[in-house]
Amino acid sequence: MSDAHIENIRQTVADPKLQLAIYTATGRLIEHRARVVARDVLPDYEELRTQANAIKKHTIEHLDFYLEQLESNVIAHGGKVVFCQNGEEVADFVLSLAKERGARLIVKSKSMTTEEIHLNDRLEKHQLEAVETDLGEYILQLAHQRPYHIVAPALHLTREDVGEIFSQRLGIEKEVVIEKQTRIARDVLRQKFLEADVGISGANFLVADSGAVVLVENEGNARLTTSAPRIHIAVAGIEKVIPRAQDLAVFLNLLGRSATGQLLTVYTSFLSGPRRANEVDGPDEFYLVLVDNGRSVVLADPEKRQSLYCIRCGACLNHCPVYRKIGGHNYPWVYSGPIGAILTPQFHGVHQDTWLPFASSLCGACAEVCPVKIEIPRLLLKLRAEVAEAKQREGAGGLERLAFRMFAWVMTHPGIFQTLSSIGRKLAPMLPPAGPLRSWIAERDLPPMPAQSFHQWWAARRKSG
Ligand code: SF4
Repeated sequence: MSDAHIENIRQTVADPKLQLAIYTATGRLIEHRARVVARDVLPDYEELRTQANAIKKHTIEHLDFYLEQLESNVIAHGGKVVFCQNGEEVADFVLSLAKERGARLIVKSKSMTTEEIHLNDRLEKHQLEAVETDLGEYILQLAHQRPYHIVAPALHLTREDVGEIFSQRLGIEKEVVIEKQTRIARDVLRQKFLEADVGISGANFLVADSGAVVLVENEGNARLTTSAPRIHIAVAGIEKVIPRAQDLAVFLNLLGRSATGQLLTVYTSFLSGPRRANEVDGPDEFYLVLVDNGRSVVLADPEKRQSLYCIRCGACLNHCPVYRKIGGHNYPWVYSGPIGAILTPQFHGVHQDTWLPFASSLCGACAEVCPVKIEIPRLLLKLRAEVAEAKQREGAGGLERLAFRMFAWVMTHPGIFQTLSSIGRKLAPMLPPAGPLRSWIAERDLPPMPAQSFHQWWAARRKSG
C-alpha cells in the first residue's frame, strides 16, 4: 500500500462529516434489511438463501449451456447477442454501432459492469456523450467520481455537497433542498431521454429459458433508458444468467430486501427483444452484450468461482466494519467492501493490491448477510494464502536476481574472480551431503571440477612455452 493510499485512509477516518455520512447511510440500510428478513416477516428467509445458493452453483457450473440457451432465446425474440472479451471490445461494438446509426447521445441506467470497464470514458474519448440517468450516478458523473457503494453510489455525499456540485457543474444557484435537487436533475435528464439515440442498461438477471433481461430499480430511469431511444444495448457480465423465470421468485425476494430493505423494488422490468409490431413503445433494435472481462479466469477455480454468485445487493458492504470505516473510494476498484476484497484480486491478480484480502477482521458478518451464501471469509483466507505464496515466490526471484547481479560484478573484476574461484575449488568437495546448495546442484549437470583454473593453466603454459 502506497503512502498516498495510507494518507487517504487516514483522512477518511479522521473526517467526522464523512464518517457520519457512511455510518448513517449503512446503518439505515442495515436496519431496513433486518426488518424485512426477520423470522416473523419472512419465515423461509434461510431456505430462500439456500435455494439461491443452489441455483447459482448449478448455473455457474453449467454456464456454457445456459449462455447458449440465453443466446438462442434472445435471437428468437428479435435481439442480437454480442460476446465481448473485455471493455475494449464492448466500447468498439458500441462505437461502431453508434457510427453506423449516426448516434451522438447515449443515456445510461445504473450498471456496475459498465463502471467496471470504464465504458463512459472510452465512449467520451470518441466524442460520444454518455449521460448517467440514475440520480446518484448522475451526481457522481458531474463530480467526476466513481461509485462509493454498489447500491447507493453517492452514499458519501450530503445534500450540501450535491448542491455544490449542481451549482458548479450546471451553472445554477446552490440548492440544498433534496426535492428541489431531484427536480433539477429530472429536468435535465428528461431532455436527454427525449434526445438520446441509444440507451445502455445493465442487467440484474438474464433468464436463459426466455431470453429476458430483468432490471430492478426505484427511479424509473431504467425504463426510460430501455424504451425511449431507438436502440437498447444491455451490457452484462456472463454470470448474470439464471436458468428459469421461476428462479426469480427466489432472487427478487432476496435482492430488494438485502439491498435496501424493500420487499420489492419500485420497478421490475422484463425486457425481451425490440418492440413488436403490435407494441406502442420500445426500441427498434435490441443488443445483449455479454462481457467476460476476467470472469472465465474466476470460473476456472472450483472453490473461488462462488464469487460469481454475487447479485450486487451491497449487504456485505453495509455490515463490514472495515468498509464502514474506510468507505468505498479507498478500495482500488469499483467493487468495494468484502465483495471487492474477493473479486479484485481474482480479476486483477493477487500481485496487485496485496493488502486487500487482509483488509478484513474476518468477523463473518458479510457471510451471514449474503443472500447467496458466498463464503467470503473462507475466500479471503484462501486469497491471503495465495498472496503469501506469490510474495514468497517473488522473494525467491529477488534472491536469484541479486545472485546474478553479484555474479556479473565478480565476472567484471578479474582479481576477485580468480581469488573466489580458487577458494571455490578448495571448498567444493566439502559441500554438505544435503542442503539447498546440494539440492540445487543435484538438479543440474556440472562438469567435473578441473584441477586448475583457465587463468592458472594459461599462466603455466606461457611460462613453459
Ligand atoms: S457478496 Fe453477497 S452480500 Fe455482498 S454484494 Fe454480493 S450478494 Fe450481496
